[in-house]
Amino acid sequence: MRLVLVGPPGAGKGTQAQFIASNLSIPKISTGDIFRANVSGGTELGKLAKEYMDRGDLVPDEVTNAMVQDRLAEKDAQEGFLLDGFPRNVPQAQVLKKILDELGAKLDIVLELVVDNDEVVRRLAGRRTCRSCGKVWHVDFDPPKVDGVCDACGGELFQRDDDREETIRHRLEVYEQQTSPLISYYAEEGLLEGVDATGPVEEVTRRAMSALRRFVD
Ligand code: AMP
Repeated sequence: MRLVLVGPPGAGKGTQAQFIASNLSIPKISTGDIFRANVSGGTELGKLAKEYMDRGDLVPDEVTNAMVQDRLAEKDAQEGFLLDGFPRNVPQAQVLKKILDELGAKLDIVLELVVDNDEVVRRLAGRRTCRSCGKVWHVDFDPPKVDGVCDACGGELFQRDDDREETIRHRLEVYEQQTSPLISYYAEEGLLEGVDATGPVEEVTRRAMSALRRFVD
């Protein structure tokens, strides 16, 4: 099972990717997570990526594509994977196709999480992440008991630089201009399935799994 998850920032891609990948027993490959791990680790890749990420821009394709190519060559990705956050534009999708062709593989399906812009801003601007354990909270929808403190581990909560309102608006523009053409690209390839990403997390997972039913049975 080789699948791609697309959708605007704040559609819940990361959360859904985790549930879907674990339901299907395939690795979740998230370019955003790999970049963030490199930023925390202070690697050269992290230093380069941080500049783009903080502005809400895409990291250059050459860098991102090479990173994904290496990751897809790893053993655990040979029987299937879920890509979260890649591809982000049509040229990346073409590179992905080439990488898979070389491995003698192809994508099975592309799930698009569908949610409108106002909802995205509401979700992301309230998001807070624990500096110690990485758990994600929300000031309105899932607040911790004590403001700014993680219930799970007592760590300090912070707002990702790219979750500030002006950066969110910019990320949405980037999505509109660069990522949304992917939707028609994959529709033409006959791979696209839309999933309504509003409502409770479990409900969205149920809808996504039902779109994948024909692969799971
Ligand atoms: P995400 O967690 O998927 O929202 O990604 C966070 C940030 O990482 C994005 O705003 C980009 O700066 C960068 N990023 C993640 N995936 C890609 C990609 N496929 N191409 C370029 N930049 C990416």
